[in-house]
Amino acid sequence: MKGFAMLEIGKVGWIDAERPSAGPYDAIVKPLAVAPCTSDVHTVWEGALGNRKNMILGHEAVGVIEETGSEVKDFKPGDKVIVPAITPDWRSMEAQDGMPMHSNGMLSGWKFSNFKSGVFAEYFHVNDADMNLALLPKGMPLEQAVMLSDMATTGIQGAEMANIKTGSTVAVIGIGPVGLMAVAGASILGAGRLIAVGSRQVCVDLSLEYGASEVVDYRKGGLVGQILEKTNGKGVDSVIIAGGNENTISDAVKIVKPGGTVSNVNYYGTGDTLPIPRIEWGSGMSHKDIRGGLTTGGRLRMERMAALCTYGRIKPEKMATHVFEGFDKIEEALMLMKDKPRDLIKPVVLL
Ligand code: NDP
Ligand code: ZN
Repeated sequence: MKGFAMLEIGKVGWIDAERPSAGPYDAIVKPLAVAPCTSDVHTVWEGALGNRKNMILGHEAVGVIEETGSEVKDFKPGDKVIVPAITPDWRSMEAQDGMPMHSNGMLSGWKFSNFKSGVFAEYFHVNDADMNLALLPKGMPLEQAVMLSDMATTGIQGAEMANIKTGSTVAVIGIGPVGLMAVAGASILGAGRLIAVGSRQVCVDLSLEYGASEVVDYRKGGLVGQILEKTNGKGVDSVIIAGGNENTISDAVKIVKPGGTVSNVNYYGTGDTLPIPRIEWGSGMSHKDIRGGLTTGGRLRMERMAALCTYGRIKPEKMATHVFEGFDKIEEALMLMKDKPRDLIKPVVLL
């Protein structure tokens, strides 16, 4: 079968790979819609996970089940499903301990396009289908559903980790698709003042629609000064980092109040260390909490993300600025994600 792969660091291309087969608890899925992720860009062009040879990329998909293992009870061939980017090993001690995304090792719930073939293929394998797939609700558009695999769950998790108190002030640094979902999540969780940080106009407009009360353009003067000025030097209660560079964590510590929370879902692709500014971190005594997390995966999480769409709480399909048709468009879509033209939020490929 055909797949679009990372050939080595900095190189991508089409490869022929063996069609996967299902173990007793697994499923083989044929994609109906896929989307490239900024994480694929970090993985290929920054070599963030180390070298990978001929690894099929992609971890955001909606598909139709082609085959199920003998022990799969809730799904059958022909079912349309939402596939989470993170497909944990649910029979693991880490999952029992509330950390399914790190089942059997740090980040190991993230299998597709990390250490197993991803979804940019004619067929892909899903481990523990009953626990990791969610039925596509009837009538849900594919452009909406494919945003749930990663963008909705990650952005909203950024908000969930941010300890948002009702009416508190929240800043979201980065309003690409992940940050936009963080804005939507923070709004649902009760943020009062909600400051979005970004520069692309399409993202700015959608952030206001998703609940931001105002926007700071980090390209027009530093974001730290602008946010401190807006808050009379006091800073914000919570910061969600969903974009930026290695210094963004430092910016976040500078703008969060003592006792506040910095919640990071950004993927730092380069560098050995990340800077925490000593003075603004109260020389270690500021009670500024710094958290970071890989998104939650699995079936229940996907069902809950779908419920947010069904009941009109989030509208992630609005982020699909570039919709392609056909398997061979995957390459173009990934290159768009790499180049980030200013009218892009997220590309989707319908198959
Ligand atoms: P995008 O590149 O689309 O968006 C990044 C955002 O950050 C843009 O709004 C951009 O602004 C802004 N930005 C860039 N540089 C700076 C800066 N110096 N200071 C402040 N803001 C800046 O990314 P995505 O939304 O697709 O993904 C965001 C991150 O989340 C990525 O690192 C991705 O790998 C990661 N990720 C993490 C996951 C997890 O499980 N934790 C899962 C999925 C993704 P501008 O408007 O100028 O472009
Ligand atoms: Zn991703």
